[in-house]
Amino acid sequence: MAFWEEKSLEQMSPTEWEALCDGCGRCCLIKLEDEDSGTLITSDVRCKLLDGDTCACTNYPRRQEIVPDCIKLTPENVRDIPWIPTTCAYRRLAEGKGLAWWHPLVSGDPQTVVDAGVSAKGRTFLETEVDPEQWEEHAVDWPEWEPPESL
Ligand code: SF4
Ligand code: SF4
Repeated sequence: MAFWEEKSLEQMSPTEWEALCDGCGRCCLIKLEDEDSGTLITSDVRCKLLDGDTCACTNYPRRQEIVPDCIKLTPENVRDIPWIPTTCAYRRLAEGKGLAWWHPLVSGDPQTVVDAGVSAKGRTFLETEVDPEQWEEHAVDWPEWEPPESL
């Protein structure tokens, strides 16, 4: 049995925990707050540390120092943060859904995250290159889109 099937999130080692990230980059997109309702809307503007092609954080060890509102996911907060994408491996496991077919640990190939349409690769704009006045125009719903559960 694979570790994500036999262990709870709390039981995982730091290495196992990190391996769960599918590298989609969806959680590193800037959220906009609707002034009237307070609802958070996801944009296609990416955090200044996110590489738009690899979807990797370019300074993972110092990320919280450079980006103070970068959230470190934990078994506790992954159950409470509403904006974590529904496709996120941590959220899926917390909700008892298991890992999806396109997750690299299941498929054996990181490209399936891109092929399934989950990755933010090549679909985002860098935070420092977008005029804040234009952020509203960058509201998108694709980061909440989910592929079918099976091929
Ligand atoms: S949404 Fe989840 S799986 Fe995707 S990059 Fe963020 S932490 Fe990793
Ligand atoms: S600092 Fe890194 S991990 Fe945090 S939101 Fe930005 S790109 Fe993502």
